[in-house]
Amino acid sequence: MMSPCPPSHPPTLDGLSSEALRERCAELEERLFWLETIIQGTRAGTWQWNVQTGETRFNERWAEIVGYRLEELEPVTIDTWLSLAHPEDLARSEAALAAHFAGEAPFYACEARMRHRDGHWVWVRDYGRLVTRTAEGEPEWMSGTHIDISEHKATESRLEQALEETRQLTRTLERAQRIGRLGYWRASLKTGELFWSDSIYDLFGVDRESFLPSIEAFKARVHPDDLPAVEASEARAQQTGIHDVQHRILRPDGSIRWVHEVADFEPHGDEAVLVGTVRDITEAKELELRLRELSITDELTGLYNRRYFMQRLREAFAQCQRKGTRAAVIVFDFDHFKSVNDTHGHAAGDRVLRRLGRLLSERLRRMDVPSRLGGEEFAILLPETPLDGGLRVAEDIRREVAALELRSPQGTPFRVSITCGVDALAETDASGEEAIQRADAALYRGKHAGRNRVEAGPAGRLAEERT
Ligand code: GH3
Ligand code: MG
Ligand code: MG
Repeated sequence: MMSPCPPSHPPTLDGLSSEALRERCAELEERLFWLETIIQGTRAGTWQWNVQTGETRFNERWAEIVGYRLEELEPVTIDTWLSLAHPEDLARSEAALAAHFAGEAPFYACEARMRHRDGHWVWVRDYGRLVTRTAEGEPEWMSGTHIDISEHKATESRLEQALEETRQLTRTLERAQRIGRLGYWRASLKTGELFWSDSIYDLFGVDRESFLPSIEAFKARVHPDDLPAVEASEARAQQTGIHDVQHRILRPDGSIRWVHEVADFEPHGDEAVLVGTVRDITEAKELELRLRELSITDELTGLYNRRYFMQRLREAFAQCQRKGTRAAVIVFDFDHFKSVNDTHGHAAGDRVLRRLGRLLSERLRRMDVPSRLGGEEFAILLPETPLDGGLRVAEDIRREVAALELRSPQGTPFRVSITCGVDALAETDASGEEAIQRADAALYRGKHAGRNRVEAGPAGRLAEERT
């Protein structure tokens, strides 16, 4: 029935004694025993196939993989395999065989599905090798193994599915980030390593290929004025668990963006990690700053408004009490402004007030606080300035206002003047407003004394009396 599989170099038994033959037989039996245990141990189905005749041999495990006992498949031929294998996989098997027969592949290897007795498909890894060729050089005997890899395949497909889901999720996340102008990041405070999601590179205006994020590289891009706030929030996060800070970043093209960072602090053993998000809030921040500016400025003149002046006065008074820092205050009022309006019209009066706004903005220091208290009454806070300094500034302004060559909308030239009262904050006062009241009193004295002049408050007069 089955022809023996001819070994390539048959051992020569000629001339052996019966004793030697017995020994040789025992030796071969032992080798066969061990080979079989190895095959059983690997749970491999085995096959031998005569390519020329179609004659085939399988072991019990070969049949078991597809749910049969070997005797149920008898008589086995190559058709047994052909009928059980999945048609699609047979084509791949044929191609792998052809490559092996042609000497292009040292082994035959193919993964194929086989129909189980229950109807489901079983995945097998089919390995084999040609053992003999015919005298004409045609492929003849071949042997190989089947290993059940169904579980491995199922895991592989679950992994592939999970990978695809992850890819899809990442795409969705990236898209959501772009829409929300949001990025996510992870920073290790111990090693300084930093991970950025794609959208953060765009936000910082840096190239994904060449820029390597690190905490150091990030901080180099934080606006220097905001760095202390960023670092304070980082330190706070280690106590409270939350990092929350708004700051500016400087982009390579010179533009500035406002960002809001919120992160959780996660201690991982001795590794301190911040995991968080960053959002571009430039537009909202600019609007907020603009609103704040509007809320502290006077619309007509562009100077500060009364509320802001009073707030700065309170701060200056607190500093005066704490550290004895001097500050002068000037209050002034236009002379006969009613007649300016009456003669040249309200619009001409407004133009005078606007012109004064420009004059003060140009003339004063950045730290000074020129403001319109209301109508045609103004006040200036001069921080870190003694009374005599304040008097000099007031006198300069009075002179410059008097020198303005103004014109009505009709083209009529006219001039205006102001009367100023000046005083200084005093530690002995109950509030900053007391200095304003003294300056006011001086202003009204100036009005009665003939206008277009600068009058010092009691503090100034005391100083004058002393000298
Ligand atoms: P005095 O020298 O005593 O200050 O005389 P005055 O006419 O300036 O009197 P007072 O300061 O009491 O009057 C202020 C006038 O300034 C009243 C009002 O018509 C005018 N005025 C107040 N606010 C504005 C404003 O915003 N625009 C214009 N054009 N005029 C204003
Ligand atoms: Mg007036
Ligand atoms: Mg007035």
